[in-house]
Amino acid sequence: MESLWIKTEKEILENKEKIEGEIKTDICIVGGGITGITVGYYLSKAGKKVVIVDRDKLAYKTTGHTTAKITSQHGLFYKYLIDNFSKEYAKQYYDANQEAIENIAKIIEEEKIECDFKRQNAYVFTKSKEEISKIKQEVEAVKEIGGKAEFVETIEPPVGKIYRCNKI
Ligand SMILES: Cc1cc2nc3c(=O)[nH]c(=O)nc-3n(C[C@H](O)[C@H](O)[C@H](O)COP(=O)(O)OP(=O)(O)OC[C@H]3O[C@@H](n4cnc5c(N)ncnc54)[C@H](O)[C@@H]3O)c2cc1C
Repeated sequence: MESLWIKTEKEILENKEKIEGEIKTDICIVGGGITGITVGYYLSKAGKKVVIVDRDKLAYKTTGHTTAKITSQHGLFYKYLIDNFSKEYAKQYYDANQEAIENIAKIIEEEKIECDFKRQNAYVFTKSKEEISKIKQEVEAVKEIGGKAEFVETIEPPVGKIYRCNKI
């Protein structure tokens, strides 16, 4: 499937300098996806001279093919983390995800990036009555680690016939 970001931002993504000869830098980051670009951003903010090199084009690989949503909800994951690791571990995961969202929001604001960033509720939903109990357990798991979650019967956008969903 063609990526919307690559299709619409081709000019920006492709218009990058090629390195000629030798260059000197404090830090060289190999890989210009979201990970390399984010690390490069923070290092340059900290006063380091940074060069990001990519064997292809910036943000063309995995990063260029995401849905671009940023969320701390990844399916039914918190009950799994609590059951298989610990409550502390699940909380660390939740806090790290929330912090990442806030960091991105801060970068967008500080750098005045026009990108249609909007805060929305995140939903996990099911069309199967058998799965309702799993969703209810996930809501409790998120609440257990101090996160915000709610069990609701319906959601605003129409997504077929939905029985129940939880909302973070
Ligand atoms: C279909 C899909 C949907 C997703 N949706 C979301 C989403 O909605 N929200 C979300 O938060 N996450 C989403 N993800 C996950 C997220 O996209 C990835 O975690 C993230 O993009 C990974 O970024 P990265 O920089 O680590 O890797 P990449 O984006 O793959 O970047 C790695 C870069 O390194 C370069 N590279 C590799 N080897 C070398 C080398 N030897 N020399 C030079 N350059 C090299 C590559 O060319 C590439 O540009 C999704 C992932 C997929 C696959």
